[in-house]
Amino acid sequence: MSDSEQQTTRLRQLPAISALLDEMGKEVARWGHSEVTQGLREHLAQLRNDILEGGDASIDVADIRQAVAAQLAARAAPSLVPVFNLSGIVLHSNLGRANLAETAVAAVTAVATGASNLEFDLANGKRGDRESHVEGMICELTGAEAATVVNNNAAAVLLALNTLAMGQRVLVSRGELVEIGGSFRIPDIMARAGCTLVEVGTTNRTHLSDYQAAAGDASLLMKVHTSNYRIDGFTSCPPEQELSTLAADNGMPFMIDLGSGNFIDFPALGLPREATVADALKNGADLVTFSGDKLLGGPQSGLVAGRADLIAQLKSNPLKRALRLDKMTLAALAETLKLYRDREQLPETLPTLRLITRSAGDIRLQAEKLLPVFEAALGPAFQVGVEDTLSQIGSGSLPVETLPSSALVLKPLSGNDAELRALAGALRRLPRPVIGRVHQGALWLDLRCLEDDEATLLVHQLDELTL
Ligand SMILES: *Cc1c(COP(=O)(O)O)cnc(C)c1O
Repeated sequence: MSDSEQQTTRLRQLPAISALLDEMGKEVARWGHSEVTQGLREHLAQLRNDILEGGDASIDVADIRQAVAAQLAARAAPSLVPVFNLSGIVLHSNLGRANLAETAVAAVTAVATGASNLEFDLANGKRGDRESHVEGMICELTGAEAATVVNNNAAAVLLALNTLAMGQRVLVSRGELVEIGGSFRIPDIMARAGCTLVEVGTTNRTHLSDYQAAAGDASLLMKVHTSNYRIDGFTSCPPEQELSTLAADNGMPFMIDLGSGNFIDFPALGLPREATVADALKNGADLVTFSGDKLLGGPQSGLVAGRADLIAQLKSNPLKRALRLDKMTLAALAETLKLYRDREQLPETLPTLRLITRSAGDIRLQAEKLLPVFEAALGPAFQVGVEDTLSQIGSGSLPVETLPSSALVLKPLSGNDAELRALAGALRRLPRPVIGRVHQGALWLDLRCLEDDEATLLVHQLDELTL
């Protein structure tokens, strides 16, 4: 038989879809008739191509069934899944930032699965305000007159700029023209808000007189917390109180983009100092913008706190409607804020704070316990050790400060880079992917974010590791 005759025969031998469907009752019951039919069509088309290209893929019914069943299962698997964050960065933007508290998760489930009083006033039976569920608490926790909430802090900055200074000039120090990961850049957001950026001073030093010289025809003075870097050495910028006075003297509001929102006294917990929203307001900020899912430990959201007349203007900007929060986020945010009423319990109840305040000794102990488990799972081709390391808070919170921690350090004995990459890949393919950090020819698993119940889960799935 010639090649082309052989191909024609094999094409003719391909099973019919109806015959395959008869064999795949279990899959049809699981995934539905149209999904299985579609899967079969695609697979048969691939087989036809393969035959025409002279390939020898199996056209056996059992093999086709198995291949299509595997494809259907892969298609149904979720794309967005939980992972183990062993990167050493607590608030990792690519890994979802803050972990929600249990009470916040319960509140999300409750409002997601049924109707709620999102915009309904239960006291008088009339239409209500969705922000009523959080505004009072934000004021209580920051000392602000009023507050509003949007999708994230980038949206909060956009809304504030557009409301207070569209078509007008905004003063920002050259040293504060920051870019935050994920393409948030002050000059770009300023342009999109319709404002003209006026750069004041120099990169390392900006004086009150620089602001004064530019203040004449400006409508807003904005200070940006340089949250993901620090300029050291010969630097200066005027204190917030002086900027506040200068803005007031020139009849314009003073706004601070704080980036990471913080409500608590960090040094009291043995952590480095981080400005609080209340400090910024006390120093004379008219508006403060900050994130809900950085140090605050809540869902992705942007909060604005400050003067009642300015907040009212923000709320009546048509953009506000486009940036508003959904019910699930509001539910999670409300419960997160509530936890702050009991400050003593907060390092236990708020996962972000619990992870940040975890002691190095505790993490070390856990690492030593896990060491033999990893040695057994990886086999003799790898060396496993416990090393001191430094975690970061992440998401631009306290960028220069680090937290002493411990890591499991996994190293191929061969020193081979491909083997190291294969190990990292195998850990990422586990049912709950494990994300570490490659450093100095080894894979570092910083255990700061591995709480004890999660460690059990991690140990159990190591049986499935295939190197
Ligand atoms: C993180 C950050 C933002 C952006 O906040 P998102 O909540 O990520 O949108 C804006 N400004 C500063 C200073 C930040 O640190």
